[in-house]
Amino acid sequence: MNKISQDDRAPGADFRSQARELVANRETLRRIFIMREDDSARETLVKYMEQILFGLQDFLQRHVGITEEVPLKELSERFMDTTIGRHPEKKLAQVITDLINGIAPYAVNVASPYFVGHMTSAIPFFMVHLSTIVAALNQNVVKIETSKVVSIVEKQVLAKIHRLIYGFPEDFYKEHIQSGYTSLGGFVEDGTLANLSALWVARNRLLGPKEGFAGVEQEGIARAFAAHGVDRLVVLISQLGHYSLRKSAGVLGLGSDNVLAIGVDEHNRMDIGELTSTLGHLAKTEPRTRVLAVVGISGATETGTVDPLGKIADICQEQGIHFHVDAAWGGPTLFSEKYARLLSGIERADSVTIDGHKQFYMPMTCGMVYFKDPEAMDAIAYNARYVARPGSVDLGIRSLAGSRPSTSLILDSALKIMGAQGYALLIEHGIETAASQAEEIELRENFQLMTRPELNILTYRYCPPEIQKHLATAGPEEALVINQALNEANIALQRRQREAGKSFVSRTTLRFPDGRNGLTVVLRVVIMNPMTHMGILREILDEQESIAARQLPESFRIEP
Ligand SMILES: *Cc1c(COP(=O)(O)O)cnc(C)c1O
Repeated sequence: MNKISQDDRAPGADFRSQARELVANRETLRRIFIMREDDSARETLVKYMEQILFGLQDFLQRHVGITEEVPLKELSERFMDTTIGRHPEKKLAQVITDLINGIAPYAVNVASPYFVGHMTSAIPFFMVHLSTIVAALNQNVVKIETSKVVSIVEKQVLAKIHRLIYGFPEDFYKEHIQSGYTSLGGFVEDGTLANLSALWVARNRLLGPKEGFAGVEQEGIARAFAAHGVDRLVVLISQLGHYSLRKSAGVLGLGSDNVLAIGVDEHNRMDIGELTSTLGHLAKTEPRTRVLAVVGISGATETGTVDPLGKIADICQEQGIHFHVDAAWGGPTLFSEKYARLLSGIERADSVTIDGHKQFYMPMTCGMVYFKDPEAMDAIAYNARYVARPGSVDLGIRSLAGSRPSTSLILDSALKIMGAQGYALLIEHGIETAASQAEEIELRENFQLMTRPELNILTYRYCPPEIQKHLATAGPEEALVINQALNEANIALQRRQREAGKSFVSRTTLRFPDGRNGLTVVLRVVIMNPMTHMGILREILDEQESIAARQLPESFRIEP
């Protein structure tokens, strides 16, 4: 259907007709490593780039839907061959054509403005160019000898974002920006590893060296607990916490069960009363339990809500607990003069996670972690003799990863191309469009707004007025039954819409503070694509109303 037809195939496709037998030998190897300088070689290179840029662009323009409607099972049957051909099978031009025609249509068109269900979206086109430069330079920022100025740029861009978060005085940045002895933060693969890195630092500081003990990093968790008189380390985060925190606790030897969920208030923000009582209870009943960190979320993955960061900071400061802010999603809100206040208190965090591939609109992937104390990352410093010398700018010293691409070049360039104002406009569009959609949902009697957007994420469900009326007066048991039926109906609704292939809204399950109705399935909208506007969002709601009325009338009828 959406296959690219013969006529408008990308330019390289005719290379196949040169059907010379493909061989791998020293001569052909030489040709793929050494660029020939003549005009025809140049033309070929440019042709390939054109094929990628225009072939994909064409595809995205034609393909307004989300993905080709081929079941996963059928797709997996096409990818069953495990042999690696002894001889080359295809030339680059053919591979590019195959990817554009054979893979892209069955991947997900995350750039569609109708794709509003996830934190993955369209990226500005210049990101593709910047990625090409990073690949072409192939710098390895693990050490200065394989990256030189690129590591210096990385330190600079880390300082720029650090300043956006913490706003320390000029002198502070002058001292630390290029220092080989301190670090303001680091690039990691993603938000998961940023959260892991923050907890890694917190763990190593809490269970650090002391008389007769070299530190948890060297001696391991069992000895560290013994040396520090600890039985258990816990991390406190609201029930909306991202599961990367549990993964991190697992990897760090704390145990994922020791990430304790604190309830939320009616605005889906961490319940400070419950945080205080949990801390008090732990101190009283488990004197050998220590709190490794309290995590405030700024932009919860499911609801986009922001915890009361200032209040959490007060408590952490008073009790000497590491305060981490997971701003993987919400961090760039700081660019908006209008909305930065929503993150107020983030500047008091000991560490902060921000994802570049989310609201910096960078290509996959870019995670970042920042520390208020420029010496914090010493707790995870390693020196391999041949790689990194103390006091050098070798970035591999204080980083979970070893070899790593110069993703910072993309962020630094993007900051120059967009300016703070460019990012602010994107953020403001998301927040304001989500607010308008919330109004629209409240105007439509068939929908219930489940979580009001604070940033640019909202949740709602389909629930016709008769059922809403019924629920309002039902006893707890009956409400539970009705709610269960609504859950199933909303799951079916979301699935039908996804399968129709025009638009995509995600769904998740939330537990509401009053606990009345158990777990509630909600539809979730994330507004990040600047091309998504109210017209599109109304169409999406119309489509849902039509699916519910025409295809699922039984599911949304309840027998009193
Ligand atoms: C996305 C997200 C993460 C995880 O980030 P990845 O880049 O997917 O690993 C962590 N926390 C929050 C709040 C997020 O939104």
